[in-house]
Amino acid sequence: MPNTQFPFLDLKAQYNNLRPELIEAVTRVLESQHCILGPEVECLEQDFARMVDCRQAIGCASGSDALLLALMALQIRPGDEVITTPFTFVATAGSIARLGARPVFVDIEPDTYNIDPYRIKNAITPRTRAIMPVHLFGLPANMGAILEIADRHKLWVIEDAAQAVCARYQGKTVGSIGTIGCFSFFPSKNLGGAGDGGMVTTNDSGLADLIRTLRVHGSRKKYQYDLLGINSRLDALQAAILRVKLMRLGEWTAARQRNAGIYRTLFADYGLTESIELPFVSAGSEHVYNQFVIRTQQRDRLREHLQQAGIPTEVYYPSPLHLQRAFSSLGYKPGDLAMAEEASEQVLALPIYPELGNERQVAVVESIAAFQAENSEVRSLSYDRSDA
Ligand SMILES: *Cc1c(COP(=O)(O)O)cnc(C)c1O
Repeated sequence: MPNTQFPFLDLKAQYNNLRPELIEAVTRVLESQHCILGPEVECLEQDFARMVDCRQAIGCASGSDALLLALMALQIRPGDEVITTPFTFVATAGSIARLGARPVFVDIEPDTYNIDPYRIKNAITPRTRAIMPVHLFGLPANMGAILEIADRHKLWVIEDAAQAVCARYQGKTVGSIGTIGCFSFFPSKNLGGAGDGGMVTTNDSGLADLIRTLRVHGSRKKYQYDLLGINSRLDALQAAILRVKLMRLGEWTAARQRNAGIYRTLFADYGLTESIELPFVSAGSEHVYNQFVIRTQQRDRLREHLQQAGIPTEVYYPSPLHLQRAFSSLGYKPGDLAMAEEASEQVLALPIYPELGNERQVAVVESIAAFQAENSEVRSLSYDRSDA
């Protein structure tokens, strides 16, 4: 077993493969001194819109702001309720609460980790305005069932696609399925910038115009403010860097999917698929593996074992949002959303980035197999003792 440490995500490897193009792009922006919005951002918006099959894409300062701008454009206000999942990054529900609206948490499906559409119905009240599903880890939520409920109750659907750029659901690209799609260019996402950045997508040109206005302080004309907006623009440097990376995204997504396939083969070869749950892929969905998340009841001990062997892992997320202090005023308590709570104790993300390489994947799975072997021995010993 190699004891050489390797990173959970290797952004330096990505940079080394792109260095000349990135330096050319950054230099172009520095020479132009057009630093905020402008032609670089417009080109990225057009390319991004084409890629996700949406008529409009609007660059902004982060994925968190993309969610906030989407909710602002839909005029979500204090007293409104927005249904979402508790098993996600804080920004999903944070964007709702920041506008004074109430995040209403609905439990997840235990296999996909995404919001369970069949539990949404019971959470709808006369105050419900929107549903905000998250395509967690890169796997699309059950959009068919979600859209059906949304249509019936006249609710908006805001897709949090921060982890799922280019994922597909029944032939459609995520971010183009609901009313509005929200993306993040945080460096660890499948398409990451050299800092913060985000994108909002929609097929509704009226909403797109509103979002373009809201991101520049609510102004359509200089020093004339039609709406109360925010400052959330995408920098030209980020756009130029993202344009370089966008050209590689297809290749990187394929590499993540190939790595996922290699993990599946290795887990099967080592006879681990009984004891460890691998990522589920819903029929008709294409997973883009921002994370490759396995599930086991011995998560913490396995993580410790892997760490000793120099194998990096992460836990997304160790605590569901309904139990976080920031949301305590909503009144949830342990046990309210059992599937999300159980998942937060059992999930473990393994390295999956495009540059990972087969040998490291073998090392990861070998180390997991060694852990399982030790533990099943302990178990059979204790059975022996109780027999005696
Ligand atoms: C990363 C992420 C966000 C926030 O994006 P930032 O660009 O970091 O603000 C929102 N939701 C989910 C599910 C994310 O993973």
